[in-house]
Amino acid sequence: MSLPRGLRDYEPDSYEKLELIRSNFVKLAKIYNIKLMEPSTLELLETLQAKGGEDIVKEIYEFTDKGGRRVGLRFDLTVGITRYVCSRRDLPLPIKLGSFASMWRYDEPQFGRYRWFYQWDIEVYGDKSPESYAEILSFTSRMLRDSGLDVKIEISDRRVVEDLLKYRIGHNEYIPELLRAMDKLGKKTKEQIVNEYTEKGIDEKYIDEALQISQGGERLLDEIHTQSKELLEKVIDESKSLKLPVIVNLGIVRGLDYYSDIVFEAYSDEKREIGALAGGGGYDILTGAFKRPELNALGAAGGIDRLLLALSNRPTKKEEIVYVVYTGETKKEALKVLELLRGADISSEYSRSDKLGEGLRQAEKEGAKASVLVLPREIKDGKVKIKLMKSRLEDLVPVEKLSDWLKVH
Ligand code: AMP
Repeated sequence: MSLPRGLRDYEPDSYEKLELIRSNFVKLAKIYNIKLMEPSTLELLETLQAKGGEDIVKEIYEFTDKGGRRVGLRFDLTVGITRYVCSRRDLPLPIKLGSFASMWRYDEPQFGRYRWFYQWDIEVYGDKSPESYAEILSFTSRMLRDSGLDVKIEISDRRVVEDLLKYRIGHNEYIPELLRAMDKLGKKTKEQIVNEYTEKGIDEKYIDEALQISQGGERLLDEIHTQSKELLEKVIDESKSLKLPVIVNLGIVRGLDYYSDIVFEAYSDEKREIGALAGGGGYDILTGAFKRPELNALGAAGGIDRLLLALSNRPTKKEEIVYVVYTGETKKEALKVLELLRGADISSEYSRSDKLGEGLRQAEKEGAKASVLVLPREIKDGKVKIKLMKSRLEDLVPVEKLSDWLKVH
């Protein structure tokens, strides 16, 4: 039986890592005072189409439901959380919300790009200050560093890039197209981009300027003297004072149309080829589309699957289990001991054989921490024999003391 193209199962090994990442995210959300929620999986198509931009609209899994409504599966968490916040005028502002869930994009499947994948996501509404940006940049770097990765967060501001483009080419024309061309650098060669955009009637020298800006760093900010660069400069300053791994890269544009000012992406130093591990920025166009133009917002989201790829060569820490083994006579008692262990929150398993030797072999094979031997004579006295698999240490312990014994050994 095969799956639809671009979909796959999370097998136990990657699912375990996914759950570790989720629990770290939940922990960090508490530390940063971010409330967690999950927006609806399914949205009205018109909600998803609000300012997602042409690329994302092409990628929506959409259909007509049995009541004839045009609906679509969420392609990110930002749209749903923003719809929720915009529709709840009673919420106190500023508000910080987060979510960890899966989403669907009818993307072209390739390395690090799937049609069903998980993201962590945080959003801030009602406080678009440099400090607020620094807070989400700090969260993003912590989230990735806690996974053991060295990362750089590359930051830009769309308004600054637009002003630079206008300054360099001398007019306003073709700006959206040139931003798109910049977004393609890294995914396509310079030549491919020049060909694609000259075919659209754009002068090659404009494309050259755009690609040059893409590759320029912080020093390009000195070229312009507009108000648009104030926020970016303050965010950089704040990030430097907090020692966050943030650098300027004016080539960061981001595909989603709803970003309006700051945009950023995080990359692993070691494995840049995986693509962005997280991305985010500021947006008020989306809140505007949901009839709350005054509600400014910013947020960050990270792909869990890419994090899993970045961590793929690290072994998962095996949960240490306790194995209950028994003889033909003591199976019933052994199952009671197993229930007792599980009742005391001790991960445990029981042998599928009533031969002691075979049971111990299974315990060894599973890498168990200890075996609990339920033997006919000992259990009559209310005792079991414990064998620590590594040190071979053995002890005879009353059943009621068993879980305490295991917790200290
Ligand atoms: P975006 O919502 O496009 O800003 O993406 C945020 C993060 O989600 C990216 O930095 C990636 O880590 C991840 N991501 C986006 N698209 C995909 C995809 N098709 N498959 C896996 N991860 C993705």
